[in-house]
Amino acid sequence: MGKELIEELKQKLEKEKEILEKELEKFAKKDEKPAGDWDTKYPQFNSGNLEEEADEVEEYETLLQIEHSLETKLKDVNLALEKIKTGKYGICEKCGKEIDTERLKVMPEARSCNQCK
Ligand SMILES: [Zn+2]
Repeated sequence: MGKELIEELKQKLEKEKEILEKELEKFAKKDEKPAGDWDTKYPQFNSGNLEEEADEVEEYETLLQIEHSLETKLKDVNLALEKIKTGKYGICEKCGKEIDTERLKVMPEARSCNQCK
């Protein structure tokens, strides 16, 4: 893979990382240990209104799902950036072959090739 393409994908990944972290910061806080983990803030129950509290719990559960998918994506993005640093970027984790560059352009955080996905 050419250096220019790697540079282009790296920029995409860094942008993606920024967006994901901003999204997560809206409702979750970053854990120091283990690093890269996020926790959704649990709602404060002080309304005394049971109906409202039920809504909040429901909302919290939805947020947990969103958090999980954002966090998973962020981990993949971080992993891809790490691989660029160590020169292992673009290699399928399952079969060890190079991942198609077209696939990487669409999904720079891809960890496996078209055959193994
Ligand atoms: Zn593969």
